[in-house]
Amino acid sequence: MQNASNPNSNTLTIGRFAPSPTGALHFGSLIAAVASYLCARQHQQSQWILRIEDVDTERKIKGAATSIIKTLEAYGFEWDGGITYQSERSIHYEAALDSIPKHVYRCSCSRKDLQKLSTNMRYGYNYPGLCRKAIQNPEVTSPSVRLLTNNEEICFQDGCQPELFCQNIETDIGDFIVKRRDGLFAYQLAVVVDDHLQGVNQVVRGADLFDNTPRQIYLQQLLGYKTPDYLHFPVATTANGKKLSKQNLSPEITPDSKTSSLQLLIKALCFLGQDPPELHEFANLDDFWQWAMSHWNSHAIPKTMDIIYSDR
Ligand SMILES: [Zn+2]
Repeated sequence: MQNASNPNSNTLTIGRFAPSPTGALHFGSLIAAVASYLCARQHQQSQWILRIEDVDTERKIKGAATSIIKTLEAYGFEWDGGITYQSERSIHYEAALDSIPKHVYRCSCSRKDLQKLSTNMRYGYNYPGLCRKAIQNPEVTSPSVRLLTNNEEICFQDGCQPELFCQNIETDIGDFIVKRRDGLFAYQLAVVVDDHLQGVNQVVRGADLFDNTPRQIYLQQLLGYKTPDYLHFPVATTANGKKLSKQNLSPEITPDSKTSSLQLLIKALCFLGQDPPELHEFANLDDFWQWAMSHWNSHAIPKTMDIIYSDR
């Protein structure tokens, strides 16, 4: 494994921010941008990549990607290279699947069939492997593609969450979908292929994705990819435990939001356990980023999965 977590290492650290364009930036996604940016930039040699995760074209909101990009620019984030869009990268996901033919199979089960049969609901309904050996139903012209899992635990040590996390994918989740019946590639596959092709060796993201990590590590192992370092910071939730999102009216952040960019960036740093000076002590955004980059301490991030955040 590359030593992306040691700031003094000479290795090039490549981090990324990968928002889904399902709405404008909000406080929860601003935290993700700040955390991933500063974790990458604390290294002597770093790149921070911006990737729009629009692989699920049905959930994409028109104009959201542009709004996110404009806000990041207005807030002083500087990314390396061009912006990648998952919706333009199907050829890479297809090639990855083609390279592991013995580990994938077609499944024609409907969601309804599976809900009835599920035995382990810890991570939603699990897939009991019905089609592993079944002959395809010829009436299904475009069935989904599942990844064959095995009865072994995959463990990883997160850079923030203190406990070693282990998951038996076969029993906890089952053979998961890598290509949907509508032809769209699944998030798990797209993110693994992109991280690999873009050389990402540091993944910093919200703890809501924590239990996706073993599936991604399993895919990396099958595809012969290196596993990046992972750091999952706590997600901001509402008092009733829901993740802050556009759906529960976490206010959208746009370049013309009423709250100033400096104020929100300071709040994001505080949420991440940092101890920035007060708003009036920063002359401008450059001043803020200079302070943030020289004082960032990833060890100060609260070691918990979620934090109730109330702002109004
Ligand atoms: Zn099936």
